[in-house]
Amino acid sequence: MANEIRSFDLMNNTLKIPSVGLGTWQSEPGLVGQAVSVAVKVALGLLLLPLMSLAGYRHIDCAQLYANEKEIGSALKKLFEDGVVKREDLWITSKLWCTDHAPEDVTLAMDGCLSDLQFEYIDLYLIHWPVRTKKGTVVFQPENLIPTDIPATWKAMEALYDCGKARAIGVSNFSSKKLGDLLDIAHIPPAVNQVECHPSWQQTKLSEFCKSRAVHLSGYSPLGSPGTEWLKSDVLNHPILTSVAEKLGKTPAQVALRWGLQMGHSVLPKSTNEARIKENLDARLVRGDFLVNDTYGDYKTVEELWDGEISEARLCLFSSEQCNGTINDIPVLMYGYLLCIMVYEVSVFDFINDVIAL
Ligand code: NAP
Repeated sequence: MANEIRSFDLMNNTLKIPSVGLGTWQSEPGLVGQAVSVAVKVALGLLLLPLMSLAGYRHIDCAQLYANEKEIGSALKKLFEDGVVKREDLWITSKLWCTDHAPEDVTLAMDGCLSDLQFEYIDLYLIHWPVRTKKGTVVFQPENLIPTDIPATWKAMEALYDCGKARAIGVSNFSSKKLGDLLDIAHIPPAVNQVECHPSWQQTKLSEFCKSRAVHLSGYSPLGSPGTEWLKSDVLNHPILTSVAEKLGKTPAQVALRWGLQMGHSVLPKSTNEARIKENLDARLVRGDFLVNDTYGDYKTVEELWDGEISEARLCLFSSEQCNGTINDIPVLMYGYLLCIMVYEVSVFDFINDVIAL
């Protein structure tokens, strides 16, 4: 993956957020620690450069609500003790739950999170929802909802930033309106807005707004959360995704993730399955540029190497009927954008140079 897609600069902070984070919602107890360990250790080997490899996940997306931070903390502690990775090389996000919006509870919640994860700081702490519920309640029930006071909660979040317990602060599930209202009063602007984002819910307006106000958009449920029946999403079976995947020899999940990355969003796929954890990090594309040469070998161009099939994909994409309107609700432009960038702009040379430069 080209370096620019391995992390994103936070626009109102000096930090870089790793582009692919491991989601941990609904990662079951007993499995989540192992998943985190596998994710951090997984390495993607490079063709022709067997001694060089891409490091594994460096970003884990957690939340108090997921009720598994203790197990994640223990798994990470072991990785630090074994010398697999250093704390400073990881990016850990966690989230303030709706019961803890009262300013005095924000600090307590953060302290609980730090204690569970066994850390001294969190890289990114988010207000999980712009919704407040009564203290001590567990599930969303209408009678537990109480009015929010986001400015007061945000002030307490800023205090966490000021004292170094959070290296960056942000929000989640905020609309453009709510984000704009917060930006108007914030002393420390939110660095990130984490929202559901995938090819079937592209968040176009919010994404533009975030860019214009220097807020990074992080996409959750980037695969459409196929394991969550009540979400009724079928992103991975979408005909455009499956067709692009087939043309590029990638899986629909990799195409969905690559779409998010190329839109400039970090993506947070959840998996507790080793093969899928690896697959989800490997959303890069190898065209084989380094196998073609003007003088040596059989192939002078990438088109020759692929017997024209890369060009065919591009040509069929821009046929007139496809450029007008939508195919099954996904704007055709997205299809064009995906194939164009995926096939033509991702250079293996960039990728190799980036790795060599590390
Ligand atoms: P997701 O990552 O879109 O999808 C996860 C599901 O897809 C799991 O059932 C997983 O099963 C399966 N899966 C993973 N990789 C796959 C692949 N390559 N091919 C096919 N299936 C695959 O959904 P999500 O868990 O809803 O969202 C991801 C993360 O975003 C969460 O875990 C959480 O960290 C965050 N999130 C945040 C919020 C918020 O309010 N801020 C809300 C929702 C989610 P296996 O585990 O069996 O692989």
